Amino acid sequence: MKPFIVANWKMNPISLAKAKQLFNEIKKTKAIICPPFVYLSALRTSGAQDCFWENQGAFTGEVSPKQLKDFGCKYVLIGHSERRKYQGETEEMINKKLKAVLEVNLRPILCIEKISQIKRDINGISKEKLGKIILAYEPVWAIGSGKACGISVARKMNSAIRKILKKNILLYGGSVNSQNVKGFIKEAGFQGVLIGKASLNAKEFIKIVESISN
Ligand code: PEP
Repeated sequence: MKPFIVANWKMNPISLAKAKQLFNEIKKTKAIICPPFVYLSALRTSGAQDCFWENQGAFTGEVSPKQLKDFGCKYVLIGHSERRKYQGETEEMINKKLKAVLEVNLRPILCIEKISQIKRDINGISKEKLGKIILAYEPVWAIGSGKACGISVARKMNSAIRKILKKNILLYGGSVNSQNVKGFIKEAGFQGVLIGKASLNAKEFIKIVESISN
């Protein structure tokens, strides 16, 4: 299977012109790019960074799973640690988002930092729908720090997650770069990576993709 590569641009770049430029430089990688909502229409990417748990109504500032689906998105990040931290997203909220996303046949990329979060995040989701969840293991201390998780710890976490989600696609995220990416795929058993900072640097991002694509 080709590695699954997801780019999380977070609240970057600062202008549409810069977003278009970066997108044009990296689109040949065919990675799933998740830009800020304001750039979605211009770039028509397949990924988004978040959504709400209701599909329509009086929810100021929110974007719904159905709207993303109608727009043409296929993937949406759910429960990123920055949302858990800055927006106060709880496991209950993430659980509602996951259910809503799966209901409209979008594929959620559920971000977790601890094994203990998984069971509460996926509570009550049917076995059939569970298989559609892509899970990203992202230790919070590794995100944006330049200090990626060691391979042996990553491998252990991978096996621990596998005991709960036996067949799901598992990604690693946290300071992935062109030097360390191979280890997560070839040695730690992940099927792909979620990339923040390095996805804003076209040269480095392309290097990452190329180094795991053969
Ligand atoms: C992320 O925020 O999902 C992430 C992996 O960030 P970074 O690659 O910058 O650590």
